[in-house]
Amino acid sequence: MKNLFGLKLNDLEEYFISINEKKYKASQVFEWLYHHRIYNIDDFTNIKIDIREKLKSVFTTEMIKIKKFEEGIDVKKYLFELLDGNYVEGVLMHHDYGYSLCVSSEVGCNMGCKFCESGRLKKVRNLEAYEMVEQIILIEDQEKIRIDRVVVMGIGEPFDNYDNVVDFIKIINEPKGLALGARHITVSTCGIVPKILEFANLNLQVNLALSLHAPNDEIRNKIMPINKVYNISQTLAAIKEYLEKNNRRVTIEYVMINMVNDSDDNAYELANILKGMNVYVNLIPYNETNNLGFKKSKRINEFKNILLKCGINTTVRREFGGSISGACGQLRSKEV
Ligand code: SAH
Repeated sequence: MKNLFGLKLNDLEEYFISINEKKYKASQVFEWLYHHRIYNIDDFTNIKIDIREKLKSVFTTEMIKIKKFEEGIDVKKYLFELLDGNYVEGVLMHHDYGYSLCVSSEVGCNMGCKFCESGRLKKVRNLEAYEMVEQIILIEDQEKIRIDRVVVMGIGEPFDNYDNVVDFIKIINEPKGLALGARHITVSTCGIVPKILEFANLNLQVNLALSLHAPNDEIRNKIMPINKVYNISQTLAAIKEYLEKNNRRVTIEYVMINMVNDSDDNAYELANILKGMNVYVNLIPYNETNNLGFKKSKRINEFKNILLKCGINTTVRREFGGSISGACGQLRSKEV
């Protein structure tokens, strides 16, 4: 059985057409799910009983569960239990402008970044689109809030689960559904070049972030195995193509790790490779985990100032959740 939360509006329209019903019924179903927040198909009262029965014979609205959560200042971290017993995480952050939610895209991750907790546990499987949508729905319902921004930066590499992530974006972007504006959705990739190029052609107008984390191949090879498949120059060439096709500024993420990538020379080198590109650098204070031995850099401000002096737009990411297993994958890591 398919989960209704994994369907795009046009998938559901096609279903209704295939059973000789009017396609506007798809909009009615979306209204129940995303506006009224009614998930029991029997309660879709403006849809005739025999059609509800048909719906029930092919679709479910079964939900993943919140297994536990941890709370800090302006941040709440959730451990979700999927229907097959696997776990993923989501992090809700409270900003001045509202709430943002960081969702996971895979159970585990195969990218193996040396500093990242999620990568310690290999990928078990992709998340289905409905499992990503339900992370949002569950938290909105439980907290009685509306989420303004969604970032696909939780456990997993979104472009290693490309089709489901693209469906997820289309579902939450749908005006008749959650209606999250494209500009309020961010996808972060470690740099799977063919998928960056494919994504560029979709022109979805969402925000793209690249986890670069190093100014040269020597350092990047040591901390991010993906760099041995697509090196920095190939990756930045793909970003340039994305910029040409989408005309949307790209975020370059750079996690600041003590003595690994935080020297003055590294900053100058980074400024040099990004020169002239429509990007901005988001420096991420490294979130230390118990298991990996990397330390947070103490040179974030110096590093930022060099980039600024070189004309590169740079911000420092606000730290959330250092006290609460805030680092990617930590909550799940304790569980499995
Ligand atoms: N796979 C995707 C998205 C998931 S991770 C990607 O690589 O972009 C989201 C971001 O957090 C990435 O930039 C990742 O490198 C970074 N990250 C991972 N572990 C971290 C840690 N312990 N502290 C700070 N940032 C971390």
